[in-house]
Amino acid sequence: IYNFSAGPAVLPEEVLLEAQKDLFALPGVGMSILEISHRSKTYDAIHQEAKEGLKQLLNIPDDYTILFLQGGASLQFSMVPLNLMPPKNKADYILTGSWSKKAMKEAKRVGTVNVAATTEEGEGDKKYFKRIPKQSELKLDPDAAYVHFTSNNTIFGTEWQTEPEVGNVPLVCDASSDILSKPLDIKKYGLIYAGAQKNMGPSGVTLVIIRKDLLERSQDSLHTMLNYKIHAENDSLYNTPNTFGIYIIKLVTKWLLGLGGLEEMFKINKKKAQLLYDCIDQSGGFYKGHAEKDSRSLMNVTFNLATEELEKKLIDEATKAGFSGLKGHRSVGGLRASIYNAFPVKGVEALVDFMKDFQKRNG
Ligand code: PLP
Repeated sequence: IYNFSAGPAVLPEEVLLEAQKDLFALPGVGMSILEISHRSKTYDAIHQEAKEGLKQLLNIPDDYTILFLQGGASLQFSMVPLNLMPPKNKADYILTGSWSKKAMKEAKRVGTVNVAATTEEGEGDKKYFKRIPKQSELKLDPDAAYVHFTSNNTIFGTEWQTEPEVGNVPLVCDASSDILSKPLDIKKYGLIYAGAQKNMGPSGVTLVIIRKDLLERSQDSLHTMLNYKIHAENDSLYNTPNTFGIYIIKLVTKWLLGLGGLEEMFKINKKKAQLLYDCIDQSGGFYKGHAEKDSRSLMNVTFNLATEELEKKLIDEATKAGFSGLKGHRSVGGLRASIYNAFPVKGVEALVDFMKDFQKRNG
């Protein structure tokens, strides 16, 4: 089966095979990875290797802390404003999709939100996003506590090609659906967060990379589990972390380093996306890409056909042929091919062949 799920999503075969062995018994330990204490030496080595793998891949400087938290990216929608908004109590949000709107909703409970830009179009329940704003469209407050944006919009299939320029205001990014898909200049960011379940591992563990000076903003009055500073002081071991999820992140980072790192992964991701976008663009309008060309995502390729009936027919036939998870998000309709890091090139080639054949039979 070629798994186009938007998340939890496909993981590298090598990772799954190694995990399968360790699920029964870790070599030299004799107990499953699921059965060992988070305070054990064996687990501590895994925890440090997962952090080290991320550090190497993303070139994370020493003045940043890596945290493994729980509650998904959705809890970060709250933790970011709770920790970073005071004392100014105002922040800029750039809206490019449903997830940034959800992030903004939580921030509004903490303080004042300035919508620095929105690319939402349409009316009523037919609202949608199909592009990333240009730098010139951003109305930034130089005195904001931070600027929040979503680097890849999983639902609409749009992605920032480069980060917004925000001057000295800390840049905060929800990178849930494109983290580790390409090199990042971490120094441009104050904080990056990402649920693991697309490019890093299973659901239930959330990566937070935070510049250390920002930890000073976390106030003692915050609930312990919502406080970045406390998580940082305890190396993400204040309570029991998602040990299995962190273990998979360790294996995924090892796999990526073995592949040649993020430059290499980026090349492969561009190649995969290009194959699909070429198929769409060369179909003479049979397939219509949802995102504007200069805003297209390398991770989630969204497109429509002339009618919903035809879309359903394609999804049904594709599912029978072994292509799983192509139905678009309920709020957009159409089709979405999520082609994260671990999705193989040959799976994209097979889908393109299938789409061309479908067009011949139905065009
Ligand atoms: N942000 C983005 C960009 C996402 O794609 C998702 C989930 O798909 C989320 C946030 C929500 O993540 P979680 O389910 O981990 O809370």
